[in-house]
Amino acid sequence: MKLSNSVEVFPGSPNVLVYDRRVVVDLGGKLSSLNLEGEVQLATHGHMDHIAGLLRPSKVKYLPKEDLWALSLLGRRVMTYGFSSKDSPIFTYDLVKDEISTSGDPEVEVIKLPGHTPGHSGYILDNLLYAGDAFFGRKILESFVFPFYLDFWAALDSLQVIKEMMRSLNNVVISHGPIQEKRKMSETLEFNISYAEKLVSWVKDSISYGATAEEVVVKLMSKVGEVRPTNVTLNSITAKSILSQVAKEIRVEERGVVYKA
Ligand SMILES: [Zn+2]
Repeated sequence: MKLSNSVEVFPGSPNVLVYDRRVVVDLGGKLSSLNLEGEVQLATHGHMDHIAGLLRPSKVKYLPKEDLWALSLLGRRVMTYGFSSKDSPIFTYDLVKDEISTSGDPEVEVIKLPGHTPGHSGYILDNLLYAGDAFFGRKILESFVFPFYLDFWAALDSLQVIKEMMRSLNNVVISHGPIQEKRKMSETLEFNISYAEKLVSWVKDSISYGATAEEVVVKLMSKVGEVRPTNVTLNSITAKSILSQVAKEIRVEERGVVYKA
């Protein structure tokens, strides 16, 4: 899909952006095998579905430095699931098992948008912001229940940065969600902001009598269907980021660390 004379986006999860036929952003997921001759491969962050381009023999392979934990499988696991071990059915997102390397300068403007991961960044190409996993398509967000933010509060600040920038940008493209015109993307961003506020109130409500992070996650996720161990493992990280800020009391019981409003 052509978005301007120099920007083309291949829809997927993530959506892969190509600028000037030589700069490729977030090649990964099912589009990993796309035959793109990118001299410059950029990843917004270190998650396994965004880094396949860094395995290509390109002149420049760029990953924000705060996400260099992603160079090894062990680092990627720790920053995704919170731990690593030899092998486990929990590790369903292990899409890239090889070591990766980086080299060179990104050549384009980098916008720091931390929260999803420490180094998560957006790239400006032809006055368009590729915002990666800073926010998500509406349906995806609702089905995840929790947006995967390692630091929920830093991620909210990043949403405000994008909102401010959007006034002067031609458009914004995100990794997971539909590619839409600017007005619709502004609505999607607003939806993410108001959803985050609702999520905080749901989390607060669920600890009125005290609950562990995992109990909060299972309770909120069971509204949308089957809850899998991997989802609880990942979402408990975001839940702890919220809980550690909003709980009035944090204590240890037999069932674990209990947060109370
Ligand atoms: Zn991600």
